[in-house]
Amino acid sequence: MKIVVFTGSGVSAESGIATFRGSGGLWAEYRIEDVCTPQALAKDRERVIKFYNMRRREILSKEPNIAHKTISLLEEYFDVEVVTQNIDDLHERAGSKNVTHLHGEIVKLRSSTDESAVVPIDGWEQNVNERHQDGSLLRPFVVFFGEAVPMLEKAIDIVSKADIFLVVGTSLEVYPAASLVNYLKPGVPVYVVDPEAPYLKLKYNPVKYIREKASEAMPELMEELKRYSDDISGNN
Ligand code: NAD
Repeated sequence: MKIVVFTGSGVSAESGIATFRGSGGLWAEYRIEDVCTPQALAKDRERVIKFYNMRRREILSKEPNIAHKTISLLEEYFDVEVVTQNIDDLHERAGSKNVTHLHGEIVKLRSSTDESAVVPIDGWEQNVNERHQDGSLLRPFVVFFGEAVPMLEKAIDIVSKADIFLVVGTSLEVYPAASLVNYLKPGVPVYVVDPEAPYLKLKYNPVKYIREKASEAMPELMEELKRYSDDISGNN
């Protein structure tokens, strides 16, 4: 049975990483158009790179929480794919094996001219004039607002094969990521874990809202999913 877990910044909130729309924290101090767009990079490269250096340093100092760990533990019972909007690496550090990052990975850099030329970065600091071996300037491996989402096709394929779909810690306000729910097979049960769970307008899928913090809800939800799986495979 295939479980697809679709996560957003809320899954990392309890690791101490600010969500996007939550009050306070990093995002309250910056305007997206100053640090998260291709225009910002072209206009003030140093500012954008320093901004992502700061984010990388912060993320590397944080640890996965119980929600990341429970999602990884699901692999003992299910075929699990994680599709995340997060650029942090906390799913990987918690042990999840199949993680698709829709918006890039902060622990990597990419060529500014070739989006497929991706290299890991050692530590938190990218030098402003660091170059790829192809000679192009390197930039953070993140998808800026206004850029295409190269992993979208792969994510659609993953979501369309789900037997169970979990939505954890995302307001579903960033597109095209939020449109992934539209690719579910009819009848596939959806579980939304978020203290302020967004309402999903799905005609053909049952939705259960669990309005709790991810670290509190996920262990109990894992037990529920195991029972559900046993029931439909007739193990009990
Ligand atoms: P968002 O801020 O729009 O939504 C976060 C959601 O998480 C909210 O619905 C909130 O109620 C919920 N939430 C808060 N604490 C939670 C908890 N403990 N458990 C469960 N849910 C909790 O963020 P988004 O939907 O992920 O979209 C924002 C964009 O910002 C994404 O594209 C992402 O790439 C980017 N981003 C990433 C990170 C990261 O990598 N950790 C951090 C901030 C922003």
